[in-house]
Amino acid sequence: RKACFRLSTGSKSWDAILNGGFQSMSINEVFGEFRCGKTQLAHTLCVVAQLPKEQGGGEGKVAYLDAEGTFRPERIQQIAERFGLDPDKTVENITYVRAVNSELQDEHVSELNENFASGGYRLLVVDSICALFRVDFCGRGELADRQNKLGTHLRKLCHMAEEFNLVVFMTNQVQSDPGASALFAGADGRKPIGGHVLAHASTTRILLRKGRGEERVAKIQDSPDCPEKEATYIITNGGIND
Ligand code: ATP
Ligand code: MG
Repeated sequence: RKACFRLSTGSKSWDAILNGGFQSMSINEVFGEFRCGKTQLAHTLCVVAQLPKEQGGGEGKVAYLDAEGTFRPERIQQIAERFGLDPDKTVENITYVRAVNSELQDEHVSELNENFASGGYRLLVVDSICALFRVDFCGRGELADRQNKLGTHLRKLCHMAEEFNLVVFMTNQVQSDPGASALFAGADGRKPIGGHVLAHASTTRILLRKGRGEERVAKIQDSPDCPEKEATYIITNGGIND
């Protein structure tokens, strides 16, 4: 059996509430309002995944599935400098795929599954998991179909996490309709989209929100082995930090 590992977030206090970081062989989800740092964290993880294990890394390659068009290689280079990695090599170790609709997003995941067989990949980022499904199945009668397709997609991701000892890291949006979110308890009135299908697939779920000033707050909502604690972090030129 492959030994699973934990990937550092870049913030010591955030790592502390996660027992070291995001776990491999499982699906990790962060959700929250715009600009709380989901994409910045995704970029930070792309770099950390390439660090030695002693530094909280994964000593591996990365695949980045971009459904929002917000991946920036320049940010990867800046974050690589913070960690003392070669900026260009760090970017080269990232297999970048841009998805423009939900059907292609699912196809890209199947293609990545083939790529991963070559070995060495330790992180798969999906930023964001639901956005394209939400656009493609926006009609009233399409919800069941959407959840069906999303479920199939997530099962692939789960399987890949386990088969290739990957950290699957995905970002998610929050419900914008306050009426809908009031139906669900917890999450400080903020609820991730994707319904039960996504709730079931995510092993670890973390709510992100803005705190005081530049501060941001991460709160564990659901984890198999960590209590529901909070940590604060900031976004810097070098990525997520304390
Ligand atoms: P969305 O839901 O819109 O995708 P997000 O949660 O992905 O939002 P990010 O794009 O990760 O949000 O974070 C945006 C925030 O990161 C902004 O507040 C921006 O000022 C900050 N930021 C981006 N680059 C830097 C940098 N180099 N140094 C400091 N802060 C930065
Ligand atoms: Mg984003």
